[in-house]
Amino acid sequence: MRFEELPTPCYVVDEALIEKNLNILSGIMERTGAKIILAQKAFSMTTMYPLIGKHLSGTTASGLYEARLGQEEMGKENHVFSPAYREDEIDEIVSICDHIIFNSFSQLEKYKAKALAAGRKIGIRINPECSTQVGHEIYDPCSPGSRFGVRLEDFQPELLEGVSGLHFHTLCQQNSDDLETTLNAVVEKFGQWLPQMEWINFGGGHHITREDYDIPRLEACIRRMQENYGLKVYLEPGEAVALNAGYLVTSVLDMNRNGIEIAIVDTSATCHMPDVLEMPYRPPLFGSGEPGEKPYTYRLGGPTCLTGDVIGDYSFDQPLKNGDRLVFGDMAIYTMVKTNTFNGMPLPAIAVQEKDGNCRVVREFGYQDFKTRLA
Ligand SMILES: *Cc1c(COP(=O)(O)O)cnc(C)c1O
Repeated sequence: MRFEELPTPCYVVDEALIEKNLNILSGIMERTGAKIILAQKAFSMTTMYPLIGKHLSGTTASGLYEARLGQEEMGKENHVFSPAYREDEIDEIVSICDHIIFNSFSQLEKYKAKALAAGRKIGIRINPECSTQVGHEIYDPCSPGSRFGVRLEDFQPELLEGVSGLHFHTLCQQNSDDLETTLNAVVEKFGQWLPQMEWINFGGGHHITREDYDIPRLEACIRRMQENYGLKVYLEPGEAVALNAGYLVTSVLDMNRNGIEIAIVDTSATCHMPDVLEMPYRPPLFGSGEPGEKPYTYRLGGPTCLTGDVIGDYSFDQPLKNGDRLVFGDMAIYTMVKTNTFNGMPLPAIAVQEKDGNCRVVREFGYQDFKTRLA
């Protein structure tokens, strides 16, 4: 069907734009020999896994369910990191993950024998205590009191036997200058143990597919680890894989006013784009301007009972009316993976826009998806 015929609300992922991102990432892999894997936390739309798997080396997971998804739907390298593994899941994790990364030496001690006996690579996550993000504490694993990674102070080199890699993840939507700063801290603090390792994982948060991203500097960081320490380098971006590659299409349900013109749409910030409220940010909307920039300004709000379920204020060339369709941009990452049915909100359908422009709905949800999660 055509884009204009899609049901609303609907996430639409654009195959050509995903491929454009993947080509940038595979270029880095080809030039440097580094391996790039998909962090499924940001984007787990399995319909796209065959395409992603053609370009990238595999997947990484934050626990058993994502690890299973990666294994079942992509079936390539399958890494996992969790702040703490459960005893009742570790056997299955060891059976499907080739790289298992631990957040502490106590977890390492607890599960190391099992992982090594199964021939798995094991790593430890380090915390270089190098904050490169300001005013972003909930996304900064180096923030004071963070539960992520072993700090130098707590590092126990006597327990490294069998450990083949170090993992750090400290960035969020950042450029390679911050990676370089972080890598300097990693080398300064943990450099003495790098020669005994086989691999290092730079984590995610690299905004590689963003227009202004400095790829040569990233490649210099990769080569530095390869040349100075003989390490195999992994990167595990989530955002960069599907950045700016999807839309959320919504329809106007009603118009309202309260000191400002208000449009109620059939998608909800809190249910369908929770990062708008959590991050928070104002999502891009095609054909719109800043409030007051174009002649008609509206506050766009969702149909839930939450007062704060507001997507943002936008202006338009023409007045909005019931039935108008609006298209939010950059709605592939951290959207579908975060939806909920709060307040009985229906979940948006999921569609693919193929390279020739044709759209195909791959999943629709209904009342049962709401009901069956509640008892
Ligand atoms: C979130 C996360 C990623 C992916 O981060 P992006 O910001 O989506 O690139 C990678 N590794 C770990 C350990 C993470 O927690």
